[in-house]
Amino acid sequence: MLSCKQTIELGSKNLDTVLAWHQRLEMKLHLMVCHNCRRYIKHLRFLQKVIVSIDKQDSNIHLSEQARERIRKKIFSK
Ligand SMILES: [Zn+2]
Repeated sequence: MLSCKQTIELGSKNLDTVLAWHQRLEMKLHLMVCHNCRRYIKHLRFLQKVIVSIDKQDSNIHLSEQARERIRKKIFSK
């Protein structure tokens, strides 16, 4: 079974890319038994939705792609 660290890494990666089926399965198995990782992944998804909704709703805020990437890395890095 994956460690918590591996699960979080896969969870972060899963926000930007599609994981291989075995990675998704390993992650789901870990999340079934680990409340802390479930909560962490849930928060990551929430933050991603907030960032996307801010981008869509407020046209007065314009961030360059480089700025967005820096923010994403800060938020979603370990
Ligand atoms: Zn865990």
